[in-house]
Amino acid sequence: MAGLYVHFPFCASKCIYCDFYSRVRKDWTPYVEALLKELSDRKEFLKGVPPATLYFGGGTPSLLPVPALSRVADAVRETFGLSSCPAPNGHLPEEFTVEVNPDDVTLEKATALRAMGVSRISMGVQSFHDGHLRWMNRRHSAAQAIAAFETLRRSGFENVSIDLIFGFTGLSLPDWEADITQALALHPEHISCYQMMGRHADPDQEHCYRQYVLMQERLEAAGYLQYEISNFALPGRMSRHNSAYWARAPYLGIGAAAHSFDGNRLRCWNLADIDRYLSDRPGSSETLSDREVFEEKVMLALRTVRGLKLGDLLPEERRLLDKKALEELSRAGKLVCDGASIRIPKEELFVSDGIVARLFP
Ligand code: SF4
Repeated sequence: MAGLYVHFPFCASKCIYCDFYSRVRKDWTPYVEALLKELSDRKEFLKGVPPATLYFGGGTPSLLPVPALSRVADAVRETFGLSSCPAPNGHLPEEFTVEVNPDDVTLEKATALRAMGVSRISMGVQSFHDGHLRWMNRRHSAAQAIAAFETLRRSGFENVSIDLIFGFTGLSLPDWEADITQALALHPEHISCYQMMGRHADPDQEHCYRQYVLMQERLEAAGYLQYEISNFALPGRMSRHNSAYWARAPYLGIGAAAHSFDGNRLRCWNLADIDRYLSDRPGSSETLSDREVFEEKVMLALRTVRGLKLGDLLPEERRLLDKKALEELSRAGKLVCDGASIRIPKEELFVSDGIVARLFP
């Protein structure tokens, strides 16, 4: 399975926590032309495999007018001949996600996105507390986020994900629980909860851990299955696009700062610079060594609740596993090794980075 990611690096303003490449500017018309050119130039990257998933991320794709987004979606379908092979659910590609911000969602826009073939919406909500939203420099209120969600439903979207953030300075446990309660009241198909990183992160990791566990308990009790460190979904509603990243499936990323992977050893990326993207589209690449491929397989798989299937490793890669570290981590309850797979138990996922670091000293 292959995926296609398109990066739209435009935002109306910058949120204080954001590390994604985006700029506060609106010159998307030449940018869309440059995207179409890159798509045409690099269509062979996926070696003739049409993308099963398409993801418009950013930045804020929803800032662009739908006709601009539609030009890119149409070009993807034409480039890969998708219009002649309807998917079972009627969507082409099978999962087509667009990231939106609540302040951009109108009934007209949501209906136009549906008509464009978008099957899944990922909406950045982050908090249902207006004070926290203002502090983050978000452009919407909690009421706007709730109204936007209802608008998405009214326009026919049956697969909506919302993002929340925890673990920042000043977030109390009751506030976080209220965020989760409000999210559950909307009953989205998918919820992503990210821990705040960087200078706004709460240094009290015990406090963050309590928030993480509370989130796991509340979401699982409501029928959401955790499938990755930060991701929960109703049955059958996992993000296929993001799951493919953790499975090291090939993907083509187009746009400034977008990354691509050939599913084997080659990783390449465009420079994070809109102007250079418009002029000469510089980028870089790296070819992974055997050791790097092995470590990447293990690290990405251990992000997931399913974990690493030993059958997914080559015999020579299985020999590279540090048996002593595996035994120690298993004895400490940090890993579950059952002979066929290795996984991090859910209650330890919060500290998964430290566990993986012990596997690769
Ligand atoms: S809207 Fe999204 S991409 Fe833009 S600054 Fe905020 S978090 Fe980052």
